[in-house]
Amino acid sequence: MNRSQAKAEHTQKTGHEQFTETVYGVLCAACHNYILIDHTNCPPTCREHETCRQAYGS
Ligand SMILES: [Zn+2]
Ligand SMILES: [Zn+2]
Repeated sequence: MNRSQAKAEHTQKTGHEQFTETVYGVLCAACHNYILIDHTNCPPTCREHETCRQAYGS
C-alpha cells in the first residue's frame, strides 16, 4: 500500500479527505491518527514494531 492508496481507502471508509504527510507517513487531519507508515506499511493497530508504536502513538 502506498500513500495515495492509503488516503483513498481511508476517504472511502470514513469520508475524511484532509491528510498531512510527515516523515513517518500519512496522518489524517480528522482522526489525528496515522493511516499509513512508510517503513512498515502496517495497519494503525500494529504495536509489534517500535516504529509503528512511535508513529501511530499508543
Ligand atoms: Zn480519518
Ligand atoms: Zn508494524
